[in-house]
Amino acid sequence: MSEQYFLKTIQRICCFGYHDVTDHPETSGFQNPSAFVYKHTTRHFDSDLKAIADSGHPCVTIKNVHQRETETEAVVMLSFDDGGLSAVNIADTLEQYQMRGHFFIVTSLIGTSTFLNREQILELHRRGHVIGTHTHTHPTPFFRNSDSTLVEEWTKSIAVLEDILQEKMVFGAVPGGDVNDRVFRSARDAGLQCLFISDPSYTLRRYDDRLTIVKRIMPKNNWSSAEIAGFSRFQPRPLFQLQWKRNTKYFVKRLFGPLLPAVLKLRNIKFFRNG
Ligand SMILES: [Zn+2]
Repeated sequence: MSEQYFLKTIQRICCFGYHDVTDHPETSGFQNPSAFVYKHTTRHFDSDLKAIADSGHPCVTIKNVHQRETETEAVVMLSFDDGGLSAVNIADTLEQYQMRGHFFIVTSLIGTSTFLNREQILELHRRGHVIGTHTHTHPTPFFRNSDSTLVEEWTKSIAVLEDILQEKMVFGAVPGGDVNDRVFRSARDAGLQCLFISDPSYTLRRYDDRLTIVKRIMPKNNWSSAEIAGFSRFQPRPLFQLQWKRNTKYFVKRLFGPLLPAVLKLRNIKFFRNG
């Protein structure tokens, strides 16, 4: 097993999990209402990137992190879920800042109207961006699927991406927000070495010798670039607030269980997200 993707020397990591960046959200990615809160305008995203560049922390990828002097460093990473068409423009923008991103692809949607095709995925890979799996069909909540479905979702998707890139696929991101031990096990058993999840944190987690967990902050389109700056400077307060909010939601979800969506709909509160 390769050790190269384990980020042993990194002390702190601020990994953002964006989705689409486009001024025409109907042209890229998922089109369900809950997906739109994660679609950023180009201007907003550019302002976020300026804030990240000004943080003074290097923006790296999981592949090039070991090429840098990172012994005691804190690093920023950028990731983009779903594989919407806007990834092409996102890559152009990142490259203006000498940054590279991680693009997680829902492989059953490759080549459909608002998602990347095979050539575009290969082109991103050639330009130094990291491609990873975001499962084959993006079934959420992911952890509710059977063990065999979990593994099958990864393995099918890995096979598609390996065929496109002609390279071993070891990176993945979990669709939706919630994870549990079965999700980690399925990713590891499918051969992934690094799994990106949507729990906000500045610290990495090792699941076991074969799998590293990268925790992410998932920006919504109503977050200011000042907030993004705070995270990319590793300020403790905004992270604590985000964790508190997330934990409260989790607690309420557990408490009310399946009734909660109906209750929230009744009160017209947009509480859930589709990561
Ligand atoms: Zn997703």
